[in-house]
Amino acid sequence: MNRLGQGEFEIIEQLKARCESSPVVRLGIGDDCAILQLPPGELLLTTTDMLIESIHFRRDWTDFLSLGRKSAAVNLSDLAAMGALPRALFLAVAIPADLTAADLDLFFTGFLEVCHASKAVLAGGDTCSSKGGVSICVTALGTAPETAVVRRTGAHPGDGIYVTGTLGDSALALQWLMTGRTPPPELLKRHLEPTARVEVGRRLGTAGVPTAMIDISDGLLADLGHILTASRVGACIEIDRLPLSPALRAVGDDDHLLYDRALTGGEDYELLFTAPPEAQGEIDRIATDVDLPITRVGTISETCGEVTLTHAGSLCPIPQHKGYKHFSAGA
Ligand code: ADP
Ligand code: MG
Repeated sequence: MNRLGQGEFEIIEQLKARCESSPVVRLGIGDDCAILQLPPGELLLTTTDMLIESIHFRRDWTDFLSLGRKSAAVNLSDLAAMGALPRALFLAVAIPADLTAADLDLFFTGFLEVCHASKAVLAGGDTCSSKGGVSICVTALGTAPETAVVRRTGAHPGDGIYVTGTLGDSALALQWLMTGRTPPPELLKRHLEPTARVEVGRRLGTAGVPTAMIDISDGLLADLGHILTASRVGACIEIDRLPLSPALRAVGDDDHLLYDRALTGGEDYELLFTAPPEAQGEIDRIATDVDLPITRVGTISETCGEVTLTHAGSLCPIPQHKGYKHFSAGA
């Protein structure tokens, strides 16, 4: 039985009525294609991420408002990681028969809220039924002048390694959900409704500060690994510098477990970047302006792919498990 009580075209019409206008989107929902007009001299940056029920989320752990917010945020996070200004999102959804119109409405509300907050608009998508779970596929488009775009390739030995915000919050919440415990509300919110660091990513890119940047979706060590491979360098991380939230510390786990989670826990959607020592003043100014801590957690070294961890100046072992991987045992 279908509980939606509306067809594909009614859903699209209602969504269209809720979409905002934008100077970049000349034509949004309603024709075979959207028509976009780039600001003169800017490049187009495009990214796609899927959220699949039972792989990326569980309906008994999330509500649809949060799911809508997260679906937009994880895509905006990729734009942030390259210094782009978000412009338009495309949303493809496969909807199973047991979803209600209220569920769907909440999902779109959350999605559109996050679009609005970053001044991007929903410009198209696809809507179909599903015989399995809920599937969501979002494509996000952003623009940036070439000089503001940051790739993974430019880290140099001697650069500082920086992270925004705090690490490990989302991973703790997920771990507690998986073991049947109710996570502290601040940490649960970080897991269900991560914030894309759009403003800080764009500010850093525009200022020409980062030599390389990535968003932390799979865990600090895993995502740092991508920068190291792309830039052919190594890294030393000082784990006692890792930024931990008061809510995470309040859980009372021992330091070893806390740092381990900050190093390997996924889905914080913070930005990780490298920058030369002379950029410190500009980094501090941007952190103050956007009201978000930016913490130096280590230094880029010469040996390609080599990561060392230190604690109070002494070497410590690398955690075996570096982050989530699809297709691996236990995924
Ligand atoms: P077509 O069959 O030509 O692909 P559709 O009927 O799928 O057209 O879509 C009609 C319009 O509605 C298009 O502009 C499409 O981008 C938009 N659209 C469909 N589903 C969604 C959705 N979930 N979110 C945003 N726009 C959508
Ligand atoms: Mg279509």
